[in-house]
Amino acid sequence: MFNRIPGTKDILPAEISSWQTLESTARSVFTDYNYLEIRTPVIENASLFNRTLGPATEIVQKQMFLIHNQEDIYALRPEGTASIVRSYLENSLDKTAGFVKLYYIGPMFRFERPQKGRLRQFHHIGAEAIGSLSASLDVEIISLADRILKNCKISGYRIKLNSLGCPKDKQAFSQGLKNALQQQLPKLCPDCQNRSKHNVLRILDCKNEACREILKTLELQQEYLCPDCQNHFAAVKAGLSSLGIAFELDYRLVRGLDYYNQTVFEISHSGLGSQDALGAGGRYNNLVQELGGPQLGAIGFAFGVERVLLAADKGLGQAAAKKLAYLIPLGASAQSAGLKILDTLRKSGIRADMDYANKSLKGAMRSANDAQAEFVLILGEDELRKNTIAVKDMKNSTQKEVNLDNLIEELKC
Ligand code: AMP
Repeated sequence: MFNRIPGTKDILPAEISSWQTLESTARSVFTDYNYLEIRTPVIENASLFNRTLGPATEIVQKQMFLIHNQEDIYALRPEGTASIVRSYLENSLDKTAGFVKLYYIGPMFRFERPQKGRLRQFHHIGAEAIGSLSASLDVEIISLADRILKNCKISGYRIKLNSLGCPKDKQAFSQGLKNALQQQLPKLCPDCQNRSKHNVLRILDCKNEACREILKTLELQQEYLCPDCQNHFAAVKAGLSSLGIAFELDYRLVRGLDYYNQTVFEISHSGLGSQDALGAGGRYNNLVQELGGPQLGAIGFAFGVERVLLAADKGLGQAAAKKLAYLIPLGASAQSAGLKILDTLRKSGIRADMDYANKSLKGAMRSANDAQAEFVLILGEDELRKNTIAVKDMKNSTQKEVNLDNLIEELKC
């Protein structure tokens, strides 16, 4: 017998309705906001991620699933943004469409230590709006994420917001942080000592208790933002407030990937323990150019589907399933006649199934019950001769004989 590999999950039929509800709610919100779906391959050249996420990030250094072939190194995508920008440029959308609003739903892969809410194959529902620097777009993206959670009736989440400023501001902030940490460097964990050399902002994301205590003592403010970035951030905050979307400023929120600048945000949920981020996103105004395209503003975000489902503690409910008609054929000729009846019912949009195991009437009734059938259709030799079928309404425990010509009408009402 084989087992699934650690950090992966089978999503069984009992759970699938929550997944489908979340996906369909998100699709409907994306449509309302006029975002169109894009699907890119799950496998890309590894260099795409090295280049965009940054060679010093944890994802690139430790978490990529790499596939070495004779000439290239491929990676299972650890996130969606880089692939979508690659696709935007490769398909010349910068020339034909210019400004695009895209969404995606699909699996992502990171070689992490599995725990609750942290998997090696997990799923993102995300959006990317490419081709605009407008602060209103930042507001739209955050309000879109908020709307998905609201429409899923999820509460108890917080939206944390920060601005990293333009690359110059980000550089000044990194330098300021480096200086502030100078004295404390030997007390930081080995990972943070390394981060201080290559990606100092990432220290602000460290989960190590000792590092967190040291960081608490630092006074962090937005003194590094240039006037343009200050104005942009003020417009984002004002826009969110005008829509009644609550947010908290968090000057420690940096998002570790190299491509982020200006607005960054994270949505966390108190019920999730240490892996409390439901989703996150931000602006990446230099990424399109970094990948060989024009200088274009862009912003995106992604929810972790598994985390959103954990936050919806009672599940997301089941979309009202169609009523099920379950046919029990008694005898060989009823079996073949039954197949035709099933076909007619299905063609008319009635959900229908049949006992294929030649069970006794009692055993087949038990199967119908297990399948939560609303109607049981019993077809014996007698009924076949009369062109009728016995229809049992499972809720009322009533039974009547119905002419086969009237069966669809009978089940539809
Ligand atoms: P990130 O690109 O890391 O900001 O990911 C966006 C969201 O995806 C996070 O806020 C999480 O909800 C989710 N996520 C990231 N990594 C994992 C993982 N290893 N397992 C499950 N969910 C994840």
